[in-house]
Amino acid sequence: MAYFDYNSTSPYSPRVLRYLGEDFQNDWMNPSSEYDGAFLLSGKIKEDRKYISNFLNCSSKNIFFTSGATESINSILSSDNLKNYNVKSIISSKLEHHATLECLKDLSAKGFSVLNVQNDNFGNIDLVHFEELCRLNPNSFVSLLFANNETGIINPIKKIVQIAKKYDCLVHTDAVQALGKLELDLEIIDVDFASFSGHKIGSLKGIGLLYAKNSSSLKSFIMGGGQERGKRAGTYNYSAIHSLKLAIEDIDFSRVKKIGELRDYFEKSFLKISDSFKINSFDAPRISNTSNIHLGNINSRALMLYLNSKEIFTSTGSACSSGNVKPSHVLKGMHFSDDYANSCLRISLGADTTQDQIDILLEEITNYLKD
Ligand code: PLP
Repeated sequence: MAYFDYNSTSPYSPRVLRYLGEDFQNDWMNPSSEYDGAFLLSGKIKEDRKYISNFLNCSSKNIFFTSGATESINSILSSDNLKNYNVKSIISSKLEHHATLECLKDLSAKGFSVLNVQNDNFGNIDLVHFEELCRLNPNSFVSLLFANNETGIINPIKKIVQIAKKYDCLVHTDAVQALGKLELDLEIIDVDFASFSGHKIGSLKGIGLLYAKNSSSLKSFIMGGGQERGKRAGTYNYSAIHSLKLAIEDIDFSRVKKIGELRDYFEKSFLKISDSFKINSFDAPRISNTSNIHLGNINSRALMLYLNSKEIFTSTGSACSSGNVKPSHVLKGMHFSDDYANSCLRISLGADTTQDQIDILLEEITNYLKD
């Protein structure tokens, strides 16, 4: 098996695997109960929260455990939450993940003004247009990806925040694809909100984070038993929380560099197969594990299915919409035609990717061309 869909989800990281085989079976009590076994788990949640907030360089009071980034994004971009922050307009982009795009649709239907910043055909945000939108719409709420899940392109979030602050705009970043791939220091980046997901870096599924710099105004997004300082109620999912901490502990930036070298090796070899092959966003700043390839006039869905039959797993768009045969909204948003977008495939590498697997992928793409 050769897995090239790490941007969709990752296998469990080594510490998470070890935990599942060892302490996991003992960690079933409700951390909010009032006896020793439960106190032990609530103490461990406190330690895990501290570890995670140290890693992100933020106060542990400002992170909230959620079921994943979709929940974090929906909570931040809910109309009730935005009203708490006196927001009436949102500045975002057509290249966002569906979790954001669906929230924007809902906000627009509820009377918020939703404005999209322009981008070029590499996916780079037009910062001049962005500043113009902020200037004309002060006090807006900005929501932009840190790194795009399909192309890997990195938005200049620090610069975006600096511009936004000049016009009293708040900034949220969907940092799902940045976690574990880029150094993330929330104090330096200075965003007001951020969303993270655990399973992209090897935790259990169903765990994510919502970061809010000024959490006192954050609208309670799940009401009930008062967990997470009353903002996000529901029995603590201790094992998932702990797995997130362990997956973060397993982040290895020297490995990230090696993954980049493998990706570059793949791209160089891929481009040699045919003159009609291209790499989307090639010259833009990208996370090191992602390659969005264009295959001339080959239908990428047919190729993906062929590769699947050889136990090579890739993706034609974001995994959340894989069942959906519509061309990728990200590539469309980068001004490509339906035909072009239907000939693109996402290859995303991770900690366990080897050069042998890449060679097999290249060989099977070549074989497919011959058929
Ligand atoms: N944002 C981005 C950029 C993603 O890649 C994903 C996952 O596909 C999400 C949000 C949703 O994350 P989760 O699966 O934790 O809800």
